[in-house]
Amino acid sequence: MLPDAAAKIAPIIECFTIRGSEQYGREAVTQLQHALQCATWAEAARQPPALIAACLLHDVGHLLHNLGEDAAERGLDDRHEYRAIPFLSQHFPPAVTEPIRLHVNAKRYLCATQADYWADLSPASRLSLELQGGIFSEAEAMDFIAQPHAKDAVQLRIWDDLAKAPHHKTPNLAHFLPILTSAL
Ligand code: FE
Repeated sequence: MLPDAAAKIAPIIECFTIRGSEQYGREAVTQLQHALQCATWAEAARQPPALIAACLLHDVGHLLHNLGEDAAERGLDDRHEYRAIPFLSQHFPPAVTEPIRLHVNAKRYLCATQADYWADLSPASRLSLELQGGIFSEAEAMDFIAQPHAKDAVQLRIWDDLAKAPHHKTPNLAHFLPILTSAL
């Protein structure tokens, strides 16, 4: 890896090294497991490096605050989809950062447009949905999906929901570093 690229992804590795072992909200996986599972789904679907990187990094915002993993239960929206953007947008293009920024609203969109989506959400995800503004109206859903990168955000969101399986084996973080590098 070129020194320049290594310097850019070093803070990401550090973030997962220091806080990746924290529980992912109220789910039975760690933050790092969740990120790796989400990225693994994207890689299995032969998506480009930018979307695989977005999947790996979509919840880095959870690792940049100290509100605690029970923030939603205390009635707090941690606004994690926005927290990582100033940092990530220094090095990654909109094809990476926009699906991340939009992935919470993608849940609001999916609830509005897919009959079974809400019923299949985990209890923790239903709780945070309310704090994040609730289900989109039909007009809000149409506006949402018309934005650039919104379809990628929806796809990310579907893998995000799958990435909560305690026994799902994935490659490790090192496996994804060349993909991250090519998404810079
Ligand atoms: Fe997530």
